[in-house]
Amino acid sequence: MSSRIIYGPILSRRLGRSLGIDIIKKSDFRKNCNFDCVYCQLGHVDWKISTPSEATDLVTTEEVIDSLANYHKKVDDLDYITFSGTCEPTLNLELGNMIEQIRNISNVPICVITNSSLVNREDVRNNLSKADLVVATLVSGNEDTFQAINRPAEGIELQDIIKGLKQLQKMKGPKVAIEIMLLDSNNGYLTNSSDPEIDKQIEVLKFIDPDEIEILTISRPPAEDFIIPVTETRLKEIAQKFDEELGRERVRLVLKGLKRKRSNIEHENLTDEVYDLILRRPCTFDQVVQSLDIDNEELSPTIEGLVDDQKIIGISSENGTYYRAV
Ligand code: SF4
Repeated sequence: MSSRIIYGPILSRRLGRSLGIDIIKKSDFRKNCNFDCVYCQLGHVDWKISTPSEATDLVTTEEVIDSLANYHKKVDDLDYITFSGTCEPTLNLELGNMIEQIRNISNVPICVITNSSLVNREDVRNNLSKADLVVATLVSGNEDTFQAINRPAEGIELQDIIKGLKQLQKMKGPKVAIEIMLLDSNNGYLTNSSDPEIDKQIEVLKFIDPDEIEILTISRPPAEDFIIPVTETRLKEIAQKFDEELGRERVRLVLKGLKRKRSNIEHENLTDEVYDLILRRPCTFDQVVQSLDIDNEELSPTIEGLVDDQKIIGISSENGTYYRAV
C-alpha cells in the first residue's frame, strides 16, 4: 500500500485541524528519524539518520505543491498545514523552499513540528524561519536525560540544540513553541518529571525565551512499555511552577480530550486515507472518525479490512484501543 505525501486532516490537541505533509519517504522503513524516543507513538526507529546528507527518498517541492493543490481544495476549515509525519522534516533541506511555494497557493498558516535535533545548523534554522509556527521538542536540560529519553543518532548533543533554539528564537521569524513531553517510568528508568528535572527545564527555557511552552504527557502507547504518563495531579503541579517562573500567558498545559465540530471532507479512497493517517499518527476509532469526518458505520469495515490485511494492529491502552501501522 503506498503512502501519500499529504495525510489527514489530523485533529490534534495542539493545532486544531491540520493537514499533514510528510517529506521523507523510504519504502523499506516505516519511520525515518534521527531519534529513537522511548515515548515514540510510532514504535522503534529501525535505522537512525544522522544528517540530511544521509536522508534518501526525499520528497521534492514540486511533489508537495502538486499533492497539496489537489488535496487542499477538499477541506474548508484547516487551522494549519503541518510538516510532520513519519520522519524528522528538517532532514529535508528543501523545507524552506516548500514553505515559500505553499504560500503562493494557500493562506493557511504553516507549522513545522521538529525534534530540534538539527536546529544548530544555519541552513535548517533558515528553513524553519519561513514557517508561521515551529513546535520544537525539548525533553530536558540535562544531557544524560536527553540521551536516555530521545536516544539520538551519534553526535547529536543537547547543548547544541539549546544554543540552536536560542538562535532560532532570536531570528524573530516564526512563533517558537517548545514542547516538553513529560514522562514517568514504572522501572526506575531516567525520566524528566522529578523536581530537579523541572528546575533545570525552567532554567533552560528562561535562556531560550520561547513564545510558547507546552507541557503534556503521553496519550498513546509508547515505544517502550516501561514508560508511563505523568499523573494529571503532577502535571498540574508542574504547570503551576512553570506559570510562576515563566509567565502564565505563555505556558499551556495540554490535557487529553478534544472535541471539535465536524468538517466537510470529500473522500476519494477511504482505505488509503485511513491508512495514511494511522501510519503517521496512531489513532483510536473515534479519533479517526473525528479527524476524517466519517460515520462509524462507514469506518468499521475499513478498519476491519486493514486489520485483516495486517496493515494495522490494535494496541490496548488506558485510553482505549489505538490502531498503529504494522
Ligand atoms: S517521537 Fe518523533 S523524534 Fe522521537 S523517534 Fe518518534 S518520530 Fe522521531
